[in-house]
Amino acid sequence: QHPVMELAERTKGSYEFMEEAKKVMPGGVTANIKHFAPYPIVMKHGRGAYLTDVDNNQYIDYLMSYGALMTGHGDEEVKKAVIKQVEEDGTWLFGTPHELEIKMGKKLQEYYPSMELLRYTNSGTEATLLAIRLAAAFTGKQKVAKFEGHYHGGYDQMLVSVNPSVDDAGEEDEPKGIAESKGMCPSTVRNTVVLPFNNLKACKKILKARKDEIGCVMIEPVQAGFIPAEREFIHGLRKITEELGMVLIFDEVKTGFRVALGGAQSIYDVKPDITTLGKAVGGGYPVGMVGGKKEIMMMSAPAKGADVFDSSQSKASTANEVLFHSGTYNGHPSILAAGLATIEILEKKSDEVFSLTTYLKQRLELTFKRYKIPMKAVGVGSIFSVVLTDKKKILHYRDLQNTDLQTRKKIDIELLKEGIYTKPLNRYSLSTAHTKKEVDETIKAYERVLSKISS
Ligand code: PLP
Repeated sequence: QHPVMELAERTKGSYEFMEEAKKVMPGGVTANIKHFAPYPIVMKHGRGAYLTDVDNNQYIDYLMSYGALMTGHGDEEVKKAVIKQVEEDGTWLFGTPHELEIKMGKKLQEYYPSMELLRYTNSGTEATLLAIRLAAAFTGKQKVAKFEGHYHGGYDQMLVSVNPSVDDAGEEDEPKGIAESKGMCPSTVRNTVVLPFNNLKACKKILKARKDEIGCVMIEPVQAGFIPAEREFIHGLRKITEELGMVLIFDEVKTGFRVALGGAQSIYDVKPDITTLGKAVGGGYPVGMVGGKKEIMMMSAPAKGADVFDSSQSKASTANEVLFHSGTYNGHPSILAAGLATIEILEKKSDEVFSLTTYLKQRLELTFKRYKIPMKAVGVGSIFSVVLTDKKKILHYRDLQNTDLQTRKKIDIELLKEGIYTKPLNRYSLSTAHTKKEVDETIKAYERVLSKISS
């Protein structure tokens, strides 16, 4: 029987749910990433490392909401912190400054000293948007550079060459900018320059040729949270951007706290000009942060004397002098409370998560070896991906496209039947809620699946 059909028998409730959902939302989903063929599994309960679907199947969850949950589902400490904020403050939204903005800011600066000043946003997307505007305002240069295969949010400037067809994407050392969505503004897409990850020579050539136009280079220092930059590459990129007067932005929305408490910048010992954070640092609630060099961040400070009592300060005189940044929910107290509680837990337990992840990676590699299927568990800290390849190293997007994605998908579908959940082809993100028990069960499930598919 086809593996998807077998899965379908166990997940009839998900199918029926999705048929109803299609009457409400296009394709039944509110973010296309939540969909997979023929229909996604619909969860109704989560606790610790486990999820339960609408048919009462239980799964060990390795998606962890795309990395956002680093203390697992329904963490008691995080829950208590949110309730405490609401009960003590009486409300969950003031529309004024709040003490948790300072407390969280100081905590972040402990781990990310490059964030000399910072601002809060409501998502990683908003954080990278603000970072780009800051860089453009600071340098006076409008073009942005990003790397092929890197994701920074779904807007026109950055939704370029995230997951392009390699046949259309130009030469490996001179990638073309491919729009990833219908409806994108062609002139905005032309403003985005695409760079090859882990190829310093090619990056230098492209950046030097356009040094008067490019204001910033944004990078996921560990691509998609699992393909690390080569040390020499990231240090070289730091040097060349400095020389060419470009703002270097580390998008650590995925890597922040997850590859190390201090993010990828602490591992590489590189100081970016701007850092963006999100996901794990919100404890599962929507959040983003942008921080960096004082002189860059100060572009967004209110204009001097711009207060209601100063009648000489008309709007016309301050317009364009200040970089606009706003948001009704920026610095939401409940979310910052959840984030601070999460960081406190991670301070005590992140090392355990990292070593458990290493154990899982090593054991999986051994298991695959036994079944003679070439596999590398590629990743850093608490995130990794199962990459079916006999290549010694996976360096970038195109390397990944050349791996055996079909077999990986087949394995993932079989694993769903075994109660191991990640979205097919996705990464594994562990949490403080995962223990050796779950990990050993996962390894056993892999044993059964590999034995089945290789027989
Ligand atoms: N940057 C990176 C590196 C991400 O992985 C993501 C989300 O996956 C984003 C930005 C966008 O964050 P959000 O989904 O919170 O808008």
